[in-house]
Amino acid sequence: MHSYEKSKSLYDRAKAVIPGGVNSPVRAFKSVGREPIFIESAKDSTLTDVDGNTYIDFIGSWGPMILGHTPPFMQEDFNKVIKRGISYGVPSPLEVEMAEKLVDAYKGLELVRMVNSGTEATMSAIRVARGYTGRTKILKFEGCYHGHSDALLVKSGSGTLTYGVPTSLGVPESTVKDTLVGTYNDVQELESIFKAEGDLLSCVILEPVAGNMGVVPASEEFIKALRTLCSKYGVVLIFDEVITGFRLAYGGASEVYGVEPDMVCFGKIIGGGLPVGAYGGKREIMSIVSPLGGVYQAGTLSGNPLAMHCGIKMLDHLKANPQIYIELEDKAKYLEKEMKMVIEKHQFPVTFVRYRSMPCLFFKTGALSSYEDVKSCDIEAYAAFFRSMLEEGILLPPAQFEGLFLSTAHTQWHLDQYVEKAEAALIKLY
Ligand code: PLP
Repeated sequence: MHSYEKSKSLYDRAKAVIPGGVNSPVRAFKSVGREPIFIESAKDSTLTDVDGNTYIDFIGSWGPMILGHTPPFMQEDFNKVIKRGISYGVPSPLEVEMAEKLVDAYKGLELVRMVNSGTEATMSAIRVARGYTGRTKILKFEGCYHGHSDALLVKSGSGTLTYGVPTSLGVPESTVKDTLVGTYNDVQELESIFKAEGDLLSCVILEPVAGNMGVVPASEEFIKALRTLCSKYGVVLIFDEVITGFRLAYGGASEVYGVEPDMVCFGKIIGGGLPVGAYGGKREIMSIVSPLGGVYQAGTLSGNPLAMHCGIKMLDHLKANPQIYIELEDKAKYLEKEMKMVIEKHQFPVTFVRYRSMPCLFFKTGALSSYEDVKSCDIEAYAAFFRSMLEEGILLPPAQFEGLFLSTAHTQWHLDQYVEKAEAALIKLY
C-alpha cells in the first residue's frame, strides 16, 4: 500500500484556495472515486509524486508529452533563451520560425496565428469563420470537446462528459442558440442538417479522431461527406487537431484521412508542454484577421519566446525522426493485440479500441462510434480499474472518456506492465 500523506495534505491546502483544489476539473480524480496525487517530478514515462511513489504515466499531460517527459534535447538552450528575456510584447524571430514550420507541416495551411491554448485556438477560428462567411450558426458534434469557450461548451466531451455537465451553467441560452449539435459519424443526419441549415452555417468544427469521448475515429465516409457538403454550401470546415495534430502523423489527421480542412486548430502538442495553441487556414480566410481585416483577436503572451523555443524543438525533432510515428503506432498495436487476447481469454465485458497511436479501453461491449454509444460505459467499473492500476504504479487518465496517451518513452517493459496489471485488475473486478 502506498502512502499518500503529502498529497493529501497538499489537497487540503489546495481546496482552501482553489475551487475543488484543482486548476482543471478532471485533475480532481472525482469520477474515479479518490483524491488526486500531486506530482513532484517527471522523467521519460515515469511520474513521481510528493510522497515518493512512482507511476508509469499514461496521461502524458493529456497529449503533449509524445516524446516522454523532459527529453534531453528539449532542455538544450532553454537557459540561453530565458537569458534573452521571457516576453517582449513586440515581434521576435522565433514566432516567424514557428509559423513557417506549421505552414510547412500542414497541407492547405497558409496563414497561422499563435495563441496560448486549444480553447483560444478554437474560439478564434470560429470567430474568423463567422466573420468570413457573414453567417452565425456553427455545427459541432456530440461528445467532441473543443475547449471551454461559451459557444462550444454544448454537449461536449472530456471533463464535461465525465462530470455530467455537457452544457455548462453560466453559458447563456443566447450564446449557444446558434450552435447546432450533430451526431458523430451519422452521414444521413449530416446531409439533412446541411439541407435544412447549410446556407446559414458559418463553419463545422470536428475532432477528426475524437479523443474526448474515449477514442472514436470518424469514419472515412463521414469525413469525406463533411468535406463535400462544406464545399457545396460554402461552409468553413475546421479540424480541431489539438490532440491529433503531430500525434497521428506530422501532417495530423488531415494527412491520415487525405482530407484538407479550410482551417485547423492546434494546441498543447506544438508547445512541447508549454501553454501554446495556434489556428490558421487558407490565406483568403485568414486575411480577415486583424490587423489585415476586421476580425479582432489578440494575445499579450501569444508567440512567447520560451514557448516558441520549446515548440520548435518539438516540431524539429518530430520532422527529423519520422519513424517516431511508426514506433508510436507499433506500441499501440502491441497493447491492442495483448489486451484483446486478455479480454478474449476471460471474456471481460470491455473493448480495447485503437486508432493509429491512440488506444482506449472502454468499459462496455458493442457499438462505439458515437457519443450515444460511449455514454453507456460502466463508469464505476472504470473507476475501480483506475484505482487498482494506481495502486500497482500505473497512472491512467482519471476518466473513462479519455484515451491512453502513449509516448516514445514507453518501453516494452512499460507496455507489458500495463497488460499484466490490467489483467489482474480486471480479474479482481469481474
Ligand atoms: N480541443 C481538443 C480536441 C482538446 O482535446 C482540448 C483539450 O483537451 C482543447 C481543444 C482545449 O485545449 P486547452 O485545454 O489547451 O484549452
